[in-house]
Amino acid sequence: MVEISLRAKSAFAVLAFVLVVLFMPDSAPAQSRENNFVTIGTGSVTGVYYPAGGSICYLLNRERARHAIRCSVESSSGSVENIKNILSGDIDFGIVQSDTQYQAVNGLSGFAASGPNDQLRSVMSLYYESFTLVARTDSNIKSLSDLPGKRVNIGNIGSGQRGTMEIVMQAMGWGKDTFAETHELKASDQSRALCDGTIDAMVYMVGHPNASIKEATALCDSVLVDVGGPEISRLVNENEYYSPVSMPGGMYRGTAGETNTFGVGATLVANYNASEEVVYELTKAVFENIEIFRELHPAFSTVDIKKMTSEGLSAPLHPGALKYYREKGFLK
Ligand code: GLU
Repeated sequence: MVEISLRAKSAFAVLAFVLVVLFMPDSAPAQSRENNFVTIGTGSVTGVYYPAGGSICYLLNRERARHAIRCSVESSSGSVENIKNILSGDIDFGIVQSDTQYQAVNGLSGFAASGPNDQLRSVMSLYYESFTLVARTDSNIKSLSDLPGKRVNIGNIGSGQRGTMEIVMQAMGWGKDTFAETHELKASDQSRALCDGTIDAMVYMVGHPNASIKEATALCDSVLVDVGGPEISRLVNENEYYSPVSMPGGMYRGTAGETNTFGVGATLVANYNASEEVVYELTKAVFENIEIFRELHPAFSTVDIKKMTSEGLSAPLHPGALKYYREKGFLK
């Protein structure tokens, strides 16, 4: 069981901090070596991938005078798009859900057409994400099984929540026609759609607390809904990258009690041909500054070094990460 701890910090303040850091003027001295630019594919700006990528770049860029690597983030649709962009060589790193990583490596679900993939490499595991179902209070949705007949945002193509929602729908024996309407809105648009009455419920696989769910619960009366039942228990039991999650109450307006659902790990991946030096330096920057990293967003406050080197990493470790983990004795 994953317990999400809560810190009295505003995700909005953290996002503002990350934005400032990202657009800080380049103060590194001129280099004899060419600057080595790397990009991390993230998610919507109101999610947690975007500040996670920003935090990693911040820690890496602090040492730019020594290693001449310059890191920046790109917002994206999420996990599936990040993996596709890594494999096509458009970006160097991406943050992806552990279920999406597993599916990409094994050629399953959204990756069935391209078959198993041996080019993806894992770098580290970051924090936990919860499959979060938010419903308008006036929609009378009290559990996952109340969704049939409602207007539901199932997530945009390319997002991780869309991939997981399709798996949930399959497990429940649902199709798109189970709902009165299905919408494919981006994560950044769904909170407003919920509150202006376009949809009754939205799903988001995301770390907590975050700006998007704060928006959905602050702008109108909405609640976090339990996602459970025999089908979900089976899904969690049969797939090691899923785990039951219990989210404490009081994180968002309107949800005072605990919310029980399931979740995945948010993981960092790269292409096999990403530079060993860059991956090594990035890994080192995060691990050697883990205390700072934990402070950069409330969703990172409980990250654990041991779990970061092992959990949810189905792609082989990138040699740059492996080198650092061996050096530190984290791995043999
Ligand atoms: N898990 C979501 C996805 O893969 C992104 C969550 C976030 O941006 O924090 O699409």
